[in-house]
Amino acid sequence: MRYISEDNFFALLGALRSDYEVYVPVKKGDKRFYKRFIPPTVQPIEGKKKDGEVLKPAQTDDIVIGEVRPVEPLKAFFYSAREVVAEGFKDYIPHSTDKPFAIVGVKACDLKGFKVQDYVFSGKGRSDSGEKDGDYRDPLYIKNREQNLIIASDCTCAINTCFCLALGIKPHPQEDFDINLSQIKGGFVVESGSPKGERLIKKHSSLFEEARQGYIAERERLRTGVIKEVEGNIKENHVPHQDLYKGIIAKNIESTIWPDKAKTCVECGACNVICPTCHCFLLYDQKDEKRMERLRIWDSCMIKDFARVAGGANPRPKLWMRLRNRFEKKFDFFPKAAGIYACTGCGRCISACPAKIDIRDVLKELVGNV
Ligand code: SF4
Ligand code: SF4
Repeated sequence: MRYISEDNFFALLGALRSDYEVYVPVKKGDKRFYKRFIPPTVQPIEGKKKDGEVLKPAQTDDIVIGEVRPVEPLKAFFYSAREVVAEGFKDYIPHSTDKPFAIVGVKACDLKGFKVQDYVFSGKGRSDSGEKDGDYRDPLYIKNREQNLIIASDCTCAINTCFCLALGIKPHPQEDFDINLSQIKGGFVVESGSPKGERLIKKHSSLFEEARQGYIAERERLRTGVIKEVEGNIKENHVPHQDLYKGIIAKNIESTIWPDKAKTCVECGACNVICPTCHCFLLYDQKDEKRMERLRIWDSCMIKDFARVAGGANPRPKLWMRLRNRFEKKFDFFPKAAGIYACTGCGRCISACPAKIDIRDVLKELVGNV
């Protein structure tokens, strides 16, 4: 276990920019978003003077490595909302870059999303934990998974919608990262989680030191505090634990829960696009001045035309059927197909839904009806 001071950490991010496009979480109001990292600079602006020079405040001020997950799901870095998948111009990809991404501050709930995305796009299951292999390999996704760098970090607090522990996920990363940062006073306890992470630490070894026992003890104390916060959320909202999810969809297939819950849904699809595990996409062809190209965009199973086929037949014409399908996929299809629930308890869909349809309430009712 290593330690890196805050100053050395920002020096590391600066150094990473030669090989990666570095993205860090920044805070605006009470929300966090990924933003391209720009090292602190000294630039002339009106205001504070030091040694006769006018200084711009350090651009690291709004960076939050701890706290909770950003608004955007991690999948956006691995499987773009809109990308050319056959014969096209790279300029169409909104954040096209020649460099891979280094994504900083990734939280445990988003890393769990990899289990679903990897199954779908790289056909990778984990037989050691009962997961099964998928049968499709997406070269774009696989390339991004191999090249991008994940610098994960512990959650240092919880927001009201966090319920990761109900899905068996601790609010600090345990796998699927290259290095993980646990914020303590003045710096971070650093753990490597892959050969790539280990190589990175070796390459920049002068920035790291061995973590003292006191640092590790502080990390454990902070981790325990956040676990208590999430446990409090789960208790307050009566969220059932995943051990109780087996069979909840089959036993409620004709329940009135679905039409009741769907009453306020406006079919916007926000619950799908914001979800770190949702992965359905639509392929369409677009004509350029010179040639055709095929694009892939994120799709939503809540939208009426999602499953409509040529000729107009639709297996899920009613909104409540599509809501039921969303839950069926997450809590019945995926555990059967891949051995995992397709939900990480990140709570994004709760905040995003304009109809205030709360997945915790649906789970509560489904479990209560078993
Ligand atoms: S279903 Fe909702 S809570 Fe579960 S992973 Fe998706 S966005 Fe997060
Ligand atoms: S976010 Fe809410 S309103 Fe929008 S489709 Fe999903 S359930 Fe319906």
